Amino acid sequence: MRKRDELRGPSCMTNALDDEMVFVLLGRDAAAPLAIRAWAEARIALGLNERTDEKIVEAFKCAETMELEMTATALRAAEEKKKRARRCPRCDSPDPKRHPAMQFEGEVQICPDSFHG
Ligand SMILES: [Zn+2]
Repeated sequence: MRKRDELRGPSCMTNALDDEMVFVLLGRDAAAPLAIRAWAEARIALGLNERTDEKIVEAFKCAETMELEMTATALRAAEEKKKRARRCPRCDSPDPKRHPAMQFEGEVQICPDSFHG
């Protein structure tokens, strides 16, 4: 469940007693999907739930969504890193053949970075 929906309720968080212990897993935690699936399997093994119960179906879907979102975030970060790596670290030019003029101590000069060859 998304944080905003969990806090709005009805949810585990809004149903929890004021002095009851709770444990929250964040979607960016690489261990969260595994922990959620282990919890769901434990509920089934203990006879507390059936695999088709809404709570269990939602748990497996949550774990899957977390994995998809972590993968998408990792892909975006890798793409951004790749893009940044192709740029001059000093003038941010995306093309080694382009030497943009830079302001340096009051004078305009061609970017001297080795990125430009
Ligand atoms: Zn440059």
